[in-house]
Amino acid sequence: MRRQWCDVREDVLAAVARVGASGWLVLGEEVLRFERALAERWGLPHCVGCASGLDGIEIALRIAGLRPGEAVLTTPLSAFATTLAIVRAGGRPCFADVDESGLLDLDLAERVLEAHPEVRWLLPVHLYGHAVDLDRLERLRRRFELHIVEDCAQAIDARSHRRPVGSVSDACATSFYPTKNLGAMGDGGAVLTRSRDAASAAAALRDYGRTGRDEHAVVGLNSRLDALQAAILFDAFLPRLDHYVERRRKLADGYRSAVRHPEITIPPTPPASDSVWHLFPVLANDRDAFRDHLTRCGVATLVHYPQLIPDQPALADVDGVRVFGSLPRARYFADHVVSLPIHPYLDDGCAARIAEACTTWRS
Ligand SMILES: *Cc1c(COP(=O)(O)O)cnc(C)c1O
Repeated sequence: MRRQWCDVREDVLAAVARVGASGWLVLGEEVLRFERALAERWGLPHCVGCASGLDGIEIALRIAGLRPGEAVLTTPLSAFATTLAIVRAGGRPCFADVDESGLLDLDLAERVLEAHPEVRWLLPVHLYGHAVDLDRLERLRRRFELHIVEDCAQAIDARSHRRPVGSVSDACATSFYPTKNLGAMGDGGAVLTRSRDAASAAAALRDYGRTGRDEHAVVGLNSRLDALQAAILFDAFLPRLDHYVERRRKLADGYRSAVRHPEITIPPTPPASDSVWHLFPVLANDRDAFRDHLTRCGVATLVHYPQLIPDQPALADVDGVRVFGSLPRARYFADHVVSLPIHPYLDDGCAARIAEACTTWRS
């Protein structure tokens, strides 16, 4: 983040000065301008900014018509926010296992949907910056007449079969949390949709359900996007996104060719995914020993995610949570996955030393 600041400082300060001089700090023209720019870049007609990715997913579910008590099939391996949004929107989270890439297994999801006609909502996550296979998702959507909300928080700009993530959804959501591929300088998020009506509903929901100056048609939230974050995103980060994605891809290519070790595997990229590498996960047989070795080499690692969502204590009190099967693959990821450092300000020399540290691990 400090390295990023050295790069973006002038652009951010100019954005702050403009917003300060405008006298308009929440929603307004800056937010509209950023929303239009992001929608255009994404290739979806409407974008509605909000306060976080979590809120974005909740709003997307609500504008897509989720009714209280409806079951939503999702992945056990994600940020907790994915499931939290389902619960907050009144849905009942159900979980099926992941595939060998760590993303919701669509073969398994298909079998669950066949066996459980009461499950008609799907919330896939484009985890690690990989795109879930959108052609398959589209086929599932048609076959079962599903409602789909894609969690694109880690996958802005990722494509599957050349289509952008989010394009199979009634509405999709993303996050501008600072570490995300398009991060703000604080919290933020957005909902994207093809439907003008859904976009108006999202704009009402994020602002107390407001439909007129003093009229509240629905029970909404306060999830407005600040003009400052929108202006900073527009001036400093959106123009750098191409470069950021390119850097992440280059670093990932480097790791994929340099990290060779019998005890470390790199999960496969999903078929037809043009990934944006929000994270670079590897699976290590003895994760603790591997992480200790990297720490001794001066390499910081994280784990995404060590605890499956259905095992989180917060869900113990939630009605109607279901788990289909014993989630063996997701558990394998939770026990063995390690994220190597990857971000646009990591230089090639550093990345080469990290890869070297991996290959010199004596397990
Ligand atoms: C970050 C993230 C979220 C939540 O976004 P916030 O802006 O932090 O609320 C949701 N889903 C996934 C997959 C994420 O990575």
